[in-house]
Amino acid sequence: MKTLNDFNFKNKKALIRVDFNVPLNEEFTVTDSTRITSAKPTIIKILEDGGSCILMSHLGRPDGVQNEFSLKHIIATVENVVGVEAKFVSNCVGTEAEEAAESLKPGEILILENLRFHKEEKKGDRNFAEKLSKLGDIYVNDAFGTAHRAHASTTIVADFFPENKCFGYLLEQEIASIDKVMKTGEKPILAVLGGAKVSSKITIIENILDKVDHLIVGGGMTFTFIKAQGGKIGNSICEDDKMELALDILKLAKEKNVQIHLPLDVVAADAFSNDANTQIMDVMSISDGWQGLDVGPKSITRFHEVAMQCKTILWNGPLGVFEMEHFAKGTIELGNSIAEATKNGAFSLVGGGDSVAAVKQFGFEKKVSYVSTGGGAMLESLEGKKLPGIAAML
Ligand code: AMP
Repeated sequence: MKTLNDFNFKNKKALIRVDFNVPLNEEFTVTDSTRITSAKPTIIKILEDGGSCILMSHLGRPDGVQNEFSLKHIIATVENVVGVEAKFVSNCVGTEAEEAAESLKPGEILILENLRFHKEEKKGDRNFAEKLSKLGDIYVNDAFGTAHRAHASTTIVADFFPENKCFGYLLEQEIASIDKVMKTGEKPILAVLGGAKVSSKITIIENILDKVDHLIVGGGMTFTFIKAQGGKIGNSICEDDKMELALDILKLAKEKNVQIHLPLDVVAADAFSNDANTQIMDVMSISDGWQGLDVGPKSITRFHEVAMQCKTILWNGPLGVFEMEHFAKGTIELGNSIAEATKNGAFSLVGGGDSVAAVKQFGFEKKVSYVSTGGGAMLESLEGKKLPGIAAML
């Protein structure tokens, strides 16, 4: 597995797959430049070596060429973040792109138009990948967000650089963070899984039961486990067809010596609304007409005790409906516990969708060891799948 530091980019053109799929507002201005900032160290290393950067990315889900998804909207932000003027070419392949790449000088940056303006990108088309490969001398993959897709620019293009391909710093860091939990994690290891459904997390649960010592289950998933064990869940969300599976998981955890911690109490509400009436109820006996929308105070205390014992912590999914202020406390308190454990020396990784949003919203980003930039890619890694974008680089 080669990384950026295995290469000197002097007078070389680096073809870099970045993930600049950033949110834009109605004026087409970038509203969150995290993904661009994340790629900066890779770009700077190449420029400082005396090389040049050809940046390729997708943006949104265009159907053919659509102005609203043009990467020209992000040029100014890239220039701001990197501190270097950027050139732009309005087609990522073909003569115009080849000429622009050819005339690129050391220290310069070229941004290619949206890869997904060509349907061949998502299809993983070999000819299209070969056309892209003509643009650079060394292929660098720094896009963790798309590493689980076998697209032309994320996977297939690597074939055309048998020796000259490597991970960028971001991708290297993402892989190292996941390995720090899944392969070399210091024990005791804790995984916290929250979110809405058991069905979307089941493969992760099955995979991590072999790796962790403690598993905290929170969020909407809780109630499938509670009902399966004979608890009364009122109107709380539940997947009845997954109750047997929930019992199997509890049994399997016992066999593997994994301690599963379910909430002890919940903040129950009489409607799915921030303005609903609320009451703290025992998780096993939620009144008819009420639903559990957050974990309660006893659960928060218990989860804190568990987190403080652990040396490695993985967090995926909120513990409650954190989008509503009155049901965000469990998620915030868990963030506080993980932050404290991290301060005491634990390694903590937060990844996959809504937990990342929660961590950012409540200001825990700097208080945990690593926040993953990849939603689907992170989840597939936790499921134990080999990501095609990573496999293609080995
Ligand atoms: P996921 O994408 O599976 O991680 O699910 C995240 C979503 O789960 C968030 O939008 C939360 O609002 C939701 N969620 C968390 N706890 C509950 C709950 N007790 N009842 C309903 N939805 C929940």
